[in-house]
Amino acid sequence: MKNTEQAYDLVVVGTGIGGATLVNALAPSGARILVLERGENLQDSPQARDSKAIFAEQRFKSAEQWRDGNGQLFSPGNYYYLGGNSKFYGAVMLRYREQDFTAMTFADGVSPAWPFSYRELAPFYQRAEALYQVRGTTGQDSCDPSGERGYVAEAVTDEPSIAQLRQRLEKVGVRPFSLPLALDIERWLDRAQTPWDAYPDTGSGKMDAQAAALQPALTHDNVTLLTGAKVLRLHASGDGKKIESVEIRRNAVVQKISAPLIVLSAGAVNSAAILLASRCKKFPGGLANSSDQLGRNFMNHNCTALLAINPFKRNTAVYQKTLGINDFYLQGDAGEGPLGNIQLLGKIDGVILKAGLPKLLRWMPRFALDWLARHSVDWYVMSEDLADAQSRVTVDENGQIKLDWQRTNMSAHKSLLKKAKQVMRAAGYPILLSQAFDRRTPSHQCGTVRIGNDPASAPLDPYCRSYDHRNLFVVDGSFLPTSAAVNPALTIAAQALRVAEHIKITENF
Ligand SMILES: Cc1cc2nc3c(=O)[nH]c(=O)nc-3n(C[C@H](O)[C@H](O)[C@H](O)COP(=O)(O)OP(=O)(O)OC[C@H]3O[C@@H](n4cnc5c(N)ncnc54)[C@H](O)[C@@H]3O)c2cc1C
Repeated sequence: MKNTEQAYDLVVVGTGIGGATLVNALAPSGARILVLERGENLQDSPQARDSKAIFAEQRFKSAEQWRDGNGQLFSPGNYYYLGGNSKFYGAVMLRYREQDFTAMTFADGVSPAWPFSYRELAPFYQRAEALYQVRGTTGQDSCDPSGERGYVAEAVTDEPSIAQLRQRLEKVGVRPFSLPLALDIERWLDRAQTPWDAYPDTGSGKMDAQAAALQPALTHDNVTLLTGAKVLRLHASGDGKKIESVEIRRNAVVQKISAPLIVLSAGAVNSAAILLASRCKKFPGGLANSSDQLGRNFMNHNCTALLAINPFKRNTAVYQKTLGINDFYLQGDAGEGPLGNIQLLGKIDGVILKAGLPKLLRWMPRFALDWLARHSVDWYVMSEDLADAQSRVTVDENGQIKLDWQRTNMSAHKSLLKKAKQVMRAAGYPILLSQAFDRRTPSHQCGTVRIGNDPASAPLDPYCRSYDHRNLFVVDGSFLPTSAAVNPALTIAAQALRVAEHIKITENF
């Protein structure tokens, strides 16, 4: 094993929303930053805009398999490229609601309060919106949190079919709002007339972690990027108080890299897996795990795809994904409690339907699926997943990841789906088909290395610093103490900016 000679002030592992945003904020400080990324640049190709290649052939997915709670192998929709999962994201950049930072009571349990309030994160939300060049319109979202926005332009325009849908929804008494989107829609459509949700970005206007945060950071000479560098484990110092080095494999060579400060941003499953795989004599439960919470409290979201079909109404939308509904976010019917968010999916086609949505339609011939897709409006119905210590990531002695996701809060999700169906029926869509997303789509993974005020119940302090090893930060979806019921990327980015500010002050960067 080699030890690298080069001196760095900071090593950052991973270029997803967490890692890239943090590097972007620290790059101008002049600190010598080494960024380690196991993936490579996602090259453009005709397949990047081909639904068959993406959804049916799954050409962009890694070959990696995880085990589920029953020990069965499955292929997770987890992506390893520069920019991480955001290369495929729907670019919806919603803030958590102010109430999400306080304890919230659901039919099946309580979502705990954060160690700090919404007010603390609000200025960083604004900076994150500006960094990701979010387009949005205020004043429509029924539970939009307070504070200035960093939006760079008005919301992406509804296509004619979606503008009509908005009017129909308003007529039946709900308040649809424009989704804030990190997207240059003109550039995206110039490359090809396709949706962007779950489509890879190859530099055509989706403001993902690579495009918005990493690329500008790399214009600074003090930032070095190593791709194809898979971090295997971290090593603690003899007294256990610090992380001394990062062990990587690159081009079949294993080497150790040292730096005074380490930031792990490998994503909620992989950051936990790396720390667990770093177990040693002194720390048999893995590093940063004196709380025994490492890898636990894995959350995703409870999500269902809902196809609202009107056989006499053609949906001509290309991208579709411009509307959301938050009317039931904080309160369903009397006594129901908070239910969650409803938002449009990217426009599906017959190929996407055949590939997975919904199962009961797979016997249908292609022309029938195409017809269905042309007459459906496609929704993503999303509810909070609650922290549960038994919902966890573990790693065996061969490095095999096991994700035992325990579902929680399903009664709120069922109520939300019922509500969504009622609304769509009233708005003129008599045929409703739904299909739940399962363990194969850990798209909104979070919670496995959570922040908290008490080292006995959380591995990280409120600035994402490990209580056990003070030169280690974990900055990605894993820090989230709750999953809320909105997409996570903007909250991860805002906290990354907050942590970067903290590092600048405490480490003299
Ligand atoms: C299809 C899809 C649609 C989505 N849509 C939205 C949306 O509209 N809005 C939203 O807010 N969120 C969305 N998300 C979720 C969002 O993309 C993620 O929450 C976010 O990207 C997570 O960022 P992260 O930094 O936590 O981790 P990741 O994006 O997982 O980044 C981790 C990085 O670390 C690298 N890495 C992993 N292991 C190692 C290792 N051992 N060594 C070195 N490098 C490593 C990875 O390659 C990756 O680059 C979507 C996700 C998917 C998959």
